[in-house]
Amino acid sequence: VTNLKKHFPIKNSFGFTKNHVKAVDGISFELYEGETFCLVGESGCGKSTAGRTILRLTEPTEGEVIYEGKNIVDYNPKEMLNIRKKMQMMFQDPFSSLNPRKRIGTILEEPLDIHGIGKPKERTDIVMDLLNRLGFQADQYYRYPYEFSGGQRQRIGLARALIMNPDLIICDEPVSALDVSIQSQILNLLREIQDEFNLTYLFISHDLSVVRHIGDRIGVMYLGKIVETGPTDQIFQDPKHPYTKALLSAIPSPNPHRKRERIELNGEIPSPIDPPTGCAFHTRCPFAMDICKKETPKNLEVESEQFVACHLYTEEGAKEKEMTNA
Ligand code: SF4
Ligand code: MG
Repeated sequence: VTNLKKHFPIKNSFGFTKNHVKAVDGISFELYEGETFCLVGESGCGKSTAGRTILRLTEPTEGEVIYEGKNIVDYNPKEMLNIRKKMQMMFQDPFSSLNPRKRIGTILEEPLDIHGIGKPKERTDIVMDLLNRLGFQADQYYRYPYEFSGGQRQRIGLARALIMNPDLIICDEPVSALDVSIQSQILNLLREIQDEFNLTYLFISHDLSVVRHIGDRIGVMYLGKIVETGPTDQIFQDPKHPYTKALLSAIPSPNPHRKRERIELNGEIPSPIDPPTGCAFHTRCPFAMDICKKETPKNLEVESEQFVACHLYTEEGAKEKEMTNA
């Protein structure tokens, strides 16, 4: 994903565009095959919009999404249909999009039917197998959506994402509505399924404990931008960006011997309609300097695989680091 932007126009009463909500404002990251990459941040930071924009459920304003060497932003609707088989989405509440008058089995067979996969009997077998793998009994194939509990519903959401045998699933807060005990069941199931089905996850969450549990790497978002990226353990042990430090200082450290500095943030998240100049975090950052208001910080690799966009880290410093490591 390169420099991806999604700006929503806001129109005045005459229908003229007067402004934009810069929901996603130039994010770049790589997704490695077979990994779980988490986009984490407070609500409204643009992480869900990022997920939807990558799948072009909403059209990007700018930027590239390269998949198997091609920019899918340029694809026509027919080409996109093929890509959608490979990239699925899982939501917080899968049931808002399930037809309450249809049986679960029928709902799960629909995508196979649309894409012309198998004869009716074969489609039923595929769905039965998948339901069985996800812990359902055969007779549950004939049940209606309302007959399932929250955790079961999310497993049905997963079944729906898996039915086309995708490469990538974008999971948008898939466990946020569930009790903690059910959350870990679903997270563990996602992990098992990942190995079995060779899946890559882009996992979107505001919940750091969930992210710590499931993420191989994480990208921290603030006001439409990614401010820090790196391996999950590394970021939890040694966060570099002041915003990441602030987020993490609110939860217990994984290493009790290593005390975290407690960072309190002032004020509210500014509006994405008119985000602050320079580093968008400068209005709340306890370390803000003059340059922070004027210049947008570059994304620098400050530790191996750990990237930070903050003026506290300089290109020279990052380079020096590289030299001493070598
Ligand atoms: Fe704080 Fe400046 Fe770094 Fe932004 S660039 S996080 S304002 S120190
Ligand atoms: Mg969201």
